[in-house]
Amino acid sequence: MKNSLNQNLNQKKDETLNWDLVQEDFKTKFGNDVFESWLKKMNLLEINLDNLLISVPTRFIRDWITSRYLDNVIQIIKSHNKNINRIEFKINTVSKITLDENNTSNVINNTGNVIDANLAFTKDSFGQYNRIDPNKNFDNFVVGSSNNLAYEASKKVTESISNYNPLYLYSGVGMGKTHLLNSIGFSLKKDKKVMFISAERFMYHFVKSIKSNEMIKFKDYFRNTDVLLIDDIQFMNGKEALQEEFFHTFSTLLDKGSQIVLTADRPPNKLSRIQERIRSRFSGGLVVDIQNPDLNLRAEIVKKKISDLSILNSNKIDISEDVQNFICLEIKSSVRELVGALNRIVSFSRIYNRVPNLSETRIILKDLLNINENKVTIDDIQTMVCQSFKISKNEMLSSRRSRYLVRPRQTAIYLAKMLTSKSLPEIGRCFSNRDHTTVIHSVKTIEKLRKQDNELNIKIDNLKNKILYKNGDEI
Ligand code: ADP
Ligand code: MG
Repeated sequence: MKNSLNQNLNQKKDETLNWDLVQEDFKTKFGNDVFESWLKKMNLLEINLDNLLISVPTRFIRDWITSRYLDNVIQIIKSHNKNINRIEFKINTVSKITLDENNTSNVINNTGNVIDANLAFTKDSFGQYNRIDPNKNFDNFVVGSSNNLAYEASKKVTESISNYNPLYLYSGVGMGKTHLLNSIGFSLKKDKKVMFISAERFMYHFVKSIKSNEMIKFKDYFRNTDVLLIDDIQFMNGKEALQEEFFHTFSTLLDKGSQIVLTADRPPNKLSRIQERIRSRFSGGLVVDIQNPDLNLRAEIVKKKISDLSILNSNKIDISEDVQNFICLEIKSSVRELVGALNRIVSFSRIYNRVPNLSETRIILKDLLNINENKVTIDDIQTMVCQSFKISKNEMLSSRRSRYLVRPRQTAIYLAKMLTSKSLPEIGRCFSNRDHTTVIHSVKTIEKLRKQDNELNIKIDNLKNKILYKNGDEI
C-alpha cells in the first residue's frame, strides 16, 4: 500500500496532459480567487506537439489571462508536459452563462428599496462573489500571540463600527486574513449591508462595468454598503483610471462612515503599484500584521481542527500524539498548510479506514515537508543504521553476505526508500551499485519482518525518528 501511495504521489508527470491536475495546480499556485475568476474558464481543446489550443468564453477573459498570468500558466503546464511552450486561445462565443438561483442579493438602494431593476445584474455579477462562509467565524479562529492583535482589532470592528477605519490586516499567505475578514462579515451581515469581495474580483467588475456602461450601477452597489471588506488588496494594480475610481469609492465610503477592512500580503507602504494617496489612506486607520504561528499556536490549531473534524464526521478521528506532534513541528510555514496536512490525514483515514502512522504520514505529506526531506540523505541513513547495528560503513557497503551484515544493509535500503524520494536504481547505486531488484527485495523483506519481529520493528521505528529529528526539534 505504501508503494501505491508513493506511486500516486509521484505519477503526476507523463507525456500527455492531465488537465484536471493542471487546474488543481492553478488553484494551488494562484489561489482560489484568481482560479475561480479566470483560469477555471480555460478549457483544453487540443494538445499539439508544442502548443495547446484552449477555449475561453470571451476576448476580455483571454486578454486578462494573457496580460497577467500567461507566463506562470505556461510554466505550470510545462511542469506537466515539458514540450508545451505556447498556448493558442479560441474564443468560444457560445459559452453558457450560469446563474446561481439561490443567490439572493441583499443590496438596497438609496430609497431603501431592493434594486429590482438591477437584480439580474447584481445576481450575475456581484452577488455570487459576496459569499460569506459561515464556517469561518470568530468562534473557530484560534488565537495566539502571533495573531492576537489582528483578532482583537477585527472583533472591535464588529462591536463598534468605525473605531478603526480602515482596518488593514497583512501577513504572508495562509495566516488567517481571509478567515478574519470573513468572520467580520459573518457577524455583521445580520444588521448591516456587507460587501465581501477580493480585490481581484473588484477590479474585474470595475472593468466590466466600464465596458458595459454600467458604471452607475457599480458605484451605487459599492457606495451603498455599510461594510466593505476587500481581500488581497495587493492585486489592485490596475490602471490610473481604475485607481481613480476606486479612490473615490473608498473615500466616499469612509466619509459617510462605512467601515472598510482590507487585507494584503504586505504593509501599505510596500504596495508598489498603488498610488501614494491611496496607500496613505490605507494607513490612515489601523494597520496590523499577523506573524507566523509559533509552536504553541500550531499545536492549538491542530487540536481544534481535529476536534472540529471529528464533530463534522460525527466520529472521533484518533490521530496519534506522535503524528500530531510531527505535524505541528514540521509544518511551520502557515496555518493553511497545517490545515491542508490535517485534511490529507483525514482523507487517508477515510480511504483506508484507519489513521496513518508516522511513516505513512511522512509519505502523505511529502511535498509539504520537502524542505526537511532534502535534509535526509542516504549517507545519513547509512551512518545511523551502522551505528545502531554496530557495524562499519565499509562492512555495510561490502559485498559480504554474512547475516549480521545483511539485516542492517536491508534496513538501510528500506529506510532510504521510505525517507527519501530517490528512485530504486538511485538507491542501488548508493549501496555499491546494487541492482534495483536487490533494493526491491530488501524493502519487501523488511516490510515482512516488521510484521513478524517486534524487536526489529521497534528498532526501525526508533532509527527512523532519529534520522528524521536529527536536526533538533525533539518530540
Ligand atoms: P490568508 O487569507 O491569510 O491567506 P486564510 O484565512 O485563507 O489565510 O487561512 C488559511 C486556512 O487556515 C483557512 O482554512 C483558515 O480557516 C485557517 N486558519 C488560519 N488561521 C487560523 C486560526 N488562527 N484558527 C483557525 N483556523 C485558521
Ligand atoms: Mg486570503
